[in-house]
Amino acid sequence: MSQQTIVKSYGNYINGEWIGKALPTREVINPVTNEVIGYVPNGGTKETKEAIEAAHYAFREWSQTTAYERGKLLRKLHELVLENKEELAKTMTLEMGKPIRESRGEVDSVASFLDWYAEEGKRIYGETIPSHNTNKRLQVWKKPVGVVGAITPWNFPAGMLARKMGPALAAGCTIVIKPSSESPLTAIKIVELCEQAGFPKGVVNLVTGSSQEIGDELMANPKVRKITFTGSTEVGKQLIEQSAAQVKRLSLELGGHAPVIVLDDANIDLAVREAVASAFRNTGQTCVCANRIYVQEGIHDQFVEKYVEAVKALNVANSIEESADIGPLINKSSLNKVIEHVEDAVQKGAKVAYGGERLQELGENFYQPTVLCNVDSSMIVMHEETFGPIAPIQKISSIEEAATLANDTPYGLAAYVFTNNVSKGMKLIEKLEYGIIGWNDGVPSTTQAPFGGMKESGVGREGGHEGIEPYIESQFVSINVE
Ligand code: NAP
Repeated sequence: MSQQTIVKSYGNYINGEWIGKALPTREVINPVTNEVIGYVPNGGTKETKEAIEAAHYAFREWSQTTAYERGKLLRKLHELVLENKEELAKTMTLEMGKPIRESRGEVDSVASFLDWYAEEGKRIYGETIPSHNTNKRLQVWKKPVGVVGAITPWNFPAGMLARKMGPALAAGCTIVIKPSSESPLTAIKIVELCEQAGFPKGVVNLVTGSSQEIGDELMANPKVRKITFTGSTEVGKQLIEQSAAQVKRLSLELGGHAPVIVLDDANIDLAVREAVASAFRNTGQTCVCANRIYVQEGIHDQFVEKYVEAVKALNVANSIEESADIGPLINKSSLNKVIEHVEDAVQKGAKVAYGGERLQELGENFYQPTVLCNVDSSMIVMHEETFGPIAPIQKISSIEEAATLANDTPYGLAAYVFTNNVSKGMKLIEKLEYGIIGWNDGVPSTTQAPFGGMKESGVGREGGHEGIEPYIESQFVSINVE
């Protein structure tokens, strides 16, 4: 399949028009080849203001439509996403290097979120509260929050957008999307499908360009009532500070540092399979990737041996190839971070059980899937997000040690537990300060369940019925009927 199929200039979508082709552009680079595959406008404050204005105007009518009308448009979008699955998946793979089979899976998850929220919008129930006074009727009405600013990361350019756009639109909000500069094309293609689906102008808007300018305007403009952000904890903290001025509503899906705990009684083959899937999905560049693996001493050596065998079998290749399991890192600085983390660990006594080298014959940004042993908490890899294909394995003696090590981090997004002993599993999970737990399961996230983190991994949840709540305000109405 040719990699050079989408070299064209794209616009920003504001008030139902594709505009901005006259603006200076930003390049979108394929991390496999480092070639330019498209250009997007370098939008900023002015374009963001226009998009917010359009969304604010459109909100008046959109918020008055019924959940059934909105659901119908979301269903249409769901169908269009599935009809265009191959193009969306290919765009994603070309712009951010996700192995093509994983990209297809992400498009399926987009469709699934749209389908779910098309229905969930119909279940936003108000309340009637028993009154303390015969002359009073007490009700809670539910209202859409208003204009939503949605800022998304590069590593799930479609999935993270759908988890925001689906519930926001279903609830009756309008939206201004700011995709990552590394991977804006997938979001642009989804917005093209919104246009085809027939969303009224101004309901969905998209601005690419300077994150500082776009972000600052989204935060400073009082017409934006809510920000939903997925990205690094560092930027999330900046947004919290900026939100104070207007008490702007915030949902934050931030970084993680996921521990995997494998107890002596675990099914080793299953634990190996799932912990490999978790650590190396999207080339180790997911917020819920297994970042550190703690294995109890009774099975440690056997686990490491089998884990290395499984990692050796992963095919590192150009992500567009069907057989690719592992692709490139997103860019040079991500690659350098991986190299630094491995060097730091080795310098402090870690042993490279497999990998540990760049694969320059495949391209500038490729790195071998790597397994490290003899690791300990002093190593950067054991407490900072590496965001690369590295699996460090540490031997532990007890459940208590596992829980203490697992919780010794400011993050609290996902954790994984492997044991066939129900009692041990339950007691261990009760101790873990994490928003998502995979018990004998390396890939727990799914549309109908809440996804999000404790501690510095975020605020709020996406997915499931909880995922629509951040887009709704409760309005208490006390009616005097005397
Ligand atoms: P990032 O650098 O924080 O960027 C995320 C988004 O924020 C991008 O669109 C970026 O735009 C924008 N941005 C950057 N600075 C900003 C500012 N000052 N104001 C407003 N927006 C700003 O994160 P990333 O590298 O794209 O994504 C990786 C991170 O996301 C990892 O930490 C990962 O764990 C986390 N993540 C979390 C989840 C979750 O559900 N919890 C899911 C996926 C990823 P530009 O690209 O234009 O700079």
